[in-house]
Amino acid sequence: MAVTTRRVRSAIILASIVVFPAAISRGTQENPGIRGFAPAHVAAERALEQQLRAIPDPARAESNLRHITSEPHMAGTEASHRVAEWLRDQYRSYGFDADIVSYSVWLAQPREVHLELIAPDKKALATPEQPFAVDPDTSDKNIVVGFNTFSPSGDVTAPVVYVNYGMQADYRELEKLGISVDGKIAIARYGGCYRGIKTKLAEEHKALGLIIYSDPEDDGYVAGDVFPNGPWRPMTGIQRGSVEYTQIYPGDPLTPGVASTANAKRLAPADAANLPRIPTMPINSQDASVILENLGGPHVPRQWQGGLPFTYHIGPGAAVAHMKLAMDYQQRTLYDVIAKLRGTNDGEWVVLGNHHDAWVYGAVDPGSGTATMLETARAFGELVRAGWKPRRTIVMCEWDGEEPGLMGSTEWVEANRAELQAKAVAYLNTDVGVAGPNFTASATPSLKELVRDVTREVQDPRDVRSVYNVWLDRATRQQEEPSGIARPPSAKFTAPGEAPIEALGAGSDFCPFFDHAGIPALDAGFIGDYGVYHSMYDDFYWMKKFGDPTFEFHVALAKILGTLALRLDESDTLPFDYAAYAAEISRAANDLATRAAKQGIGSADVPAVSDAAARLTASAAHASQALQQWSNAPPNAAKQYEMNRDLVSVEQALLAPEGLSGRTWYKHTIYAPGTYAGYAAEVLPGANEALDRQDAGTFTRESAALGAALLRASTRLDEIARLASSTTQ
Ligand SMILES: [Zn+2]
Repeated sequence: MAVTTRRVRSAIILASIVVFPAAISRGTQENPGIRGFAPAHVAAERALEQQLRAIPDPARAESNLRHITSEPHMAGTEASHRVAEWLRDQYRSYGFDADIVSYSVWLAQPREVHLELIAPDKKALATPEQPFAVDPDTSDKNIVVGFNTFSPSGDVTAPVVYVNYGMQADYRELEKLGISVDGKIAIARYGGCYRGIKTKLAEEHKALGLIIYSDPEDDGYVAGDVFPNGPWRPMTGIQRGSVEYTQIYPGDPLTPGVASTANAKRLAPADAANLPRIPTMPINSQDASVILENLGGPHVPRQWQGGLPFTYHIGPGAAVAHMKLAMDYQQRTLYDVIAKLRGTNDGEWVVLGNHHDAWVYGAVDPGSGTATMLETARAFGELVRAGWKPRRTIVMCEWDGEEPGLMGSTEWVEANRAELQAKAVAYLNTDVGVAGPNFTASATPSLKELVRDVTREVQDPRDVRSVYNVWLDRATRQQEEPSGIARPPSAKFTAPGEAPIEALGAGSDFCPFFDHAGIPALDAGFIGDYGVYHSMYDDFYWMKKFGDPTFEFHVALAKILGTLALRLDESDTLPFDYAAYAAEISRAANDLATRAAKQGIGSADVPAVSDAAARLTASAAHASQALQQWSNAPPNAAKQYEMNRDLVSVEQALLAPEGLSGRTWYKHTIYAPGTYAGYAAEVLPGANEALDRQDAGTFTRESAALGAALLRASTRLDEIARLASSTTQ
């Protein structure tokens, strides 16, 4: 899972606060019922939800987490297989049909990770994380060393240059200063973007290798007390993580677009476009300080100074490093768990998922999500025992290989794409389920109101208020705090009545469902002061001491996920808000037009996009209106089924069959992970990234694909309006 450091996180929260036109109806104000439910079915749904929310139990969530975190369980190891078998058995005990689905993927494990400073003095680096006696789990012999998976093997010796976060703007700054990483080893700090983007940029700027370290300013002692006295990263803490170029395509590098089954056609590794070509390794801040202290050259720009106790220089200078990585690449087996609770209508599925593989113990990432999902599953099982039969089939997935690159989910979606596109109504993801007390969500715009509705139903564990009200209050306060972070003009918070929900970016298993298959998706969890991401300190001790000592936030999340799933499962008409979606697209289309005009690109292409966005808005408004009447007088089951298929198909209409330029695995025309922009979502990615590159030809092609997608979606919405009016008149 992608976790951003404090600084970057607050920037993303600000950037994601968006304008909601007052015209968009809010179910809870105008309709005392429940979005998507016929009036006659509301009371039964409320009773069912209350029954469900009474079941999740903190003691059970805690014992789930203790079990999941009992040994290190990295993808591709037998320990990961053991976790999968245990999860399968848990789901079976709750009454699900559960099985393990295996894939064989190209995956590296570290054989040797070596780093030393050879000048001005010789000093061995790549020091391991320090164990602490208060937490015996930190002394386990099976803890993998700090490494970046999908780094190639390599042996390089060169002077070192500091590149701040190693993002595009940082390289532009270096260029201004006349300093190059060509032929050097670059050292970047974690934060600001997905680490694979740091490797990609270092590679493009001809660095020989890349070292990525955790700066105390971002998630260490500058942020707060460090482990084991506090929740932040100690000086020896290392952030492991993948540098696969998932921004090009995620999953098995050798089987883009198809499942990595035994007989799949595989690329040669040298032909895989998502594999880095320069060695990359992570280090702790203790080692980084040895290198950074010995850099010469000019002082860093003010913003580049981190939290180590000396003035940072850019380099190069006296410091010469020797980096030697030996990676053991092999076909390794992944074990997904797929658990189904069959509904009356098995032709429609509500899919939930989280990964189960972890870099080490993964108490927060992903154990908190897994421990929670199990409680949600147990609650469904109890409801079935009490006589309930789901309306739609509930599919709960525990993915393997998320950490190396969303592998288990990507391969499964690739294997089942046609069936998912025919049956799945939505995909609900959790990953970092509980890292603290602050609720956060990202979602496709059609599901945002559903998330707000459901969080109004669940009480915040610290408060007499709902999760929603506490969340809204925090968002409003953050908005009022001066932050010093520059934000785009479109990010102004002008609707104080709405809690902000981010766009789906990159970094977890919703990506193949949403970006590749066009399944409406959301991701939810509680975040907080979490500095031990991808280190061995993300363990049970951390959760018990800092993250959620009473496990009440696990329970709150189990209630939220369960209620979300029940609303999607039991609704007469799927509770999708396309008026809100159209409003977001319209705003993004306006921003695109403004940018294009500024650059003098696309004057012939932009009007078609703007017209299509306007038509989509009109169609969505019309469909929403027609649907309101339809929901009050639900017709027969066959018509309902047809309507719900139409509602789901709108998201798929936004896919471009040919995919985005240069990364055709990504099919969604409205959202994609940024190629260079970090974890945050790029909106209208094809056209906007063409503008980033000032590439008029690509802009024309991408605008045409976008316009066509918007028109397809608006045609589907017109059909929805027609179906709704024909049946209710
Ligand atoms: Zn994760």
